[in-house]
Amino acid sequence: MKHDETKKHDETNMHDETRDKAYWLDRAGRLSFPDHAVIAGEQTLAVGGASFTCFSAIDGRELTRLPQCDARDADRSVASARKVFESGIWSQMAPAARKRVLCRFADAIDDHTHELALIESLDMGKPIADSLSVDVPAASRCVRWSAEAIDKVYGEVAPTPAHQLGLITREPLGVVAAIVPWNFPMLMAAWKIGPALATGNCVILKPSEKSSLSALRLAQLALDAGVPPGVFDVLTGAGPEAGEPLARHADVDGLVFTGSTAVGKHLAALCASSNMKRSFMECGGKNPNIVFADAPCLDEAASAAAQAIFYNQGEVCTAGSRLLVERTIGEEFINKVIEHARAFAPGHPLDPATTMGAIVDRKQFDTIMRYIEHGRREGARLRYGGDSRPVADGGCYIEPTVFDGVTQPMTIAREEIFGPVLACTFFDSADEALAQANDTEYGLAAALWTSNLSRAHRVAAQLRAGSVWVNQYDGGDMTAPFGGYKQSGNGRDKSLHALEKYTEIKATWIKLQP
Ligand code: NAD
Repeated sequence: MKHDETKKHDETNMHDETRDKAYWLDRAGRLSFPDHAVIAGEQTLAVGGASFTCFSAIDGRELTRLPQCDARDADRSVASARKVFESGIWSQMAPAARKRVLCRFADAIDDHTHELALIESLDMGKPIADSLSVDVPAASRCVRWSAEAIDKVYGEVAPTPAHQLGLITREPLGVVAAIVPWNFPMLMAAWKIGPALATGNCVILKPSEKSSLSALRLAQLALDAGVPPGVFDVLTGAGPEAGEPLARHADVDGLVFTGSTAVGKHLAALCASSNMKRSFMECGGKNPNIVFADAPCLDEAASAAAQAIFYNQGEVCTAGSRLLVERTIGEEFINKVIEHARAFAPGHPLDPATTMGAIVDRKQFDTIMRYIEHGRREGARLRYGGDSRPVADGGCYIEPTVFDGVTQPMTIAREEIFGPVLACTFFDSADEALAQANDTEYGLAAALWTSNLSRAHRVAAQLRAGSVWVNQYDGGDMTAPFGGYKQSGNGRDKSLHALEKYTEIKATWIKLQP
């Protein structure tokens, strides 16, 4: 989710290391937040007048109130998007021109790095250092990469007999709805809107009700950059009220979703039963991180194992939540991981030194604490953490937590916790490691550490996961597709493959006269 190249600071945040907590608290106090949805390109309240409160994960304080949109608002947004799509103002714009507009949009994201990073940390509790170095630059990079690609992708000419011409072209789907989660609000939105807009679609984004603010700022920045009104709307509100009408809608051509497997399955069924709209689901993960005794550097592997589960409070679809360690180094390795876990003691998200911030809300906090209780009751050994920490009144903070002695039937070995809880298991052979790694309904990502090249290839090939990392955790960038096997989903974000989701493929046959 966070990739090496995104850690490079752009010019706007080159001096972030000189900003301290007081600077961010002061800026936070002066920030004004969006309070309208964006429908037909306009700042809009919900038709029914309902609204909901947007709280800060840091301390539970009210940031703003947002419209609780429902089916009536979805109808308005879809009708407008359809009209704008058919007008051709965006869908028929020359790709090079669309590219220029979207590159300006990416520039605008960069220019607002501090504001967007602050919004993200206030809204969902992630450390400001991460928002600055990962979320904002990765979001702008995705928009820019998709934009720059779009005037370089060609159609095909079929290998026909001389009297036929067969053209194979890609066309935008039309009206695309995108429903995204709260753990990387802006980045998950960018992974959808970047390629969807670049391919000429009109997009209606439904952010999580827990973290809607950056999506609303993105829509404003897109308008300012020259994306025509009505091309990119944002509907705010809870999933069943604001999201479901989009999945059911007969005039939406495609639904792209990132979120939990349970909701993904539900939405896929709605897409199928309404108008068979194209639907692509990016869902949960329970990702194995396999460490063989011959890993090139056990210290590096231990540090990466801690980062893999505690980064972003463990609220990461690719979190390395299952650590499988070869028994001969088991105890030694887990002690090393615990040493690295100490560096993730939760801190105030606006302190640039903080490495682990606030849990998004009380509901998620209770879920994580319940899983920790499951681990204890089902006989896993709590080796580190396991408790909450009082960091800021009104916020929820959990210690980095490590269990060992975890067996496959245990709940913490099977279910996605989405919190800073590591489940460690020992294995005796590569076959046993593989069997454990693949014994899950998920298949999003996996990692393995070994110096044996043949074993690295063999195990990587047998792991049933959309991304496999060797001697690293969470590698990759915009050039490679990202998505899951099994119940982790059926689509791919990023890379040129992402463009496939947002386009129909058309075959045109032309009979050539002699
Ligand atoms: P969620 O499924 O609860 O919600 C995701 C989105 O769906 C939110 O916008 C929510 O409002 C909406 N939603 C919920 N119920 C709905 C309904 N009935 N109809 C329409 N929309 C509905 O997930 P979450 O708690 O926001 O996010 C955490 C999940 O996201 C985890 O499972 C995580 O693994 C997954 N995730 C996956 C990826 C990936 O790329 N595969 C990336 C990030 C997060």
